Amino acid sequence: MNEVISNLKSVTKNLEADQLLGIVLEQFGSKIALASSFSAEDQVITHMLSQLTSAPKIFTLDTGRLPQQTYDLMETTRDKYHINIEILFPDTKRTEDMTTTHGPNLFYKSIENRKLCCQLRKVDPLQKKLSTLKAWICGLRKEQSLTRTTVERIEWDSTNDLVKVNPIADWDTCRIWEFIRKNNVPYNSLHDEGYPSIGCAPCTRAIKPGENIRAGRWWWEKPEHKECGLHLKPAKE
Ligand code: SF4
Repeated sequence: MNEVISNLKSVTKNLEADQLLGIVLEQFGSKIALASSFSAEDQVITHMLSQLTSAPKIFTLDTGRLPQQTYDLMETTRDKYHINIEILFPDTKRTEDMTTTHGPNLFYKSIENRKLCCQLRKVDPLQKKLSTLKAWICGLRKEQSLTRTTVERIEWDSTNDLVKVNPIADWDTCRIWEFIRKNNVPYNSLHDEGYPSIGCAPCTRAIKPGENIRAGRWWWEKPEHKECGLHLKPAKE
């Protein structure tokens, strides 16, 4: 697999993000999909994919705790690009058991509870989906947080055993918003209310001027803990 990664890195080295996407779509066909949380980054990639193919494969994790604005954006995105977006839900019985045992707002009580909720509502449905793919596309950027500074455009996801493509890993925030405005890409209205990074409603708040762009996610935790488990790398990497 190292050879596949090296070849892809070499072939796409000097390409723009949309050209890189064209290459990986060609290589992986129906076995590659974008995991979208409807972030500004994911919307940029959705736009690019919709220019490359009439039926891009896009899925999202509906945790059951998303803000209404995110559901509104799902509808707007479906309508604008004339696409279906696969919506994945957590396991019903395990979600019932978790909230019955720990309460609906368990995530505020401890990091363990927060991680349990993220595992059940996000990580498990994601891993189930990834087991059907050979590659996935994400909107991760190095600039986003302490935990993302080593993100590469093409990398091997050893946790899930497939290729991970982060086409806009090197983009900065200005470039994202220039692209959105220039191409009239639909975006989450919460971005206009001080939310640069948006996840589940109870775990996301607006940030203050000067704060890191992910400071509003799980704001009660330390920065090094602020991942939901979707993008964690094994300790040996
Ligand atoms: Fe649960 Fe919050 Fe994680 Fe969403 S972000 S899955 S509500 S802990």
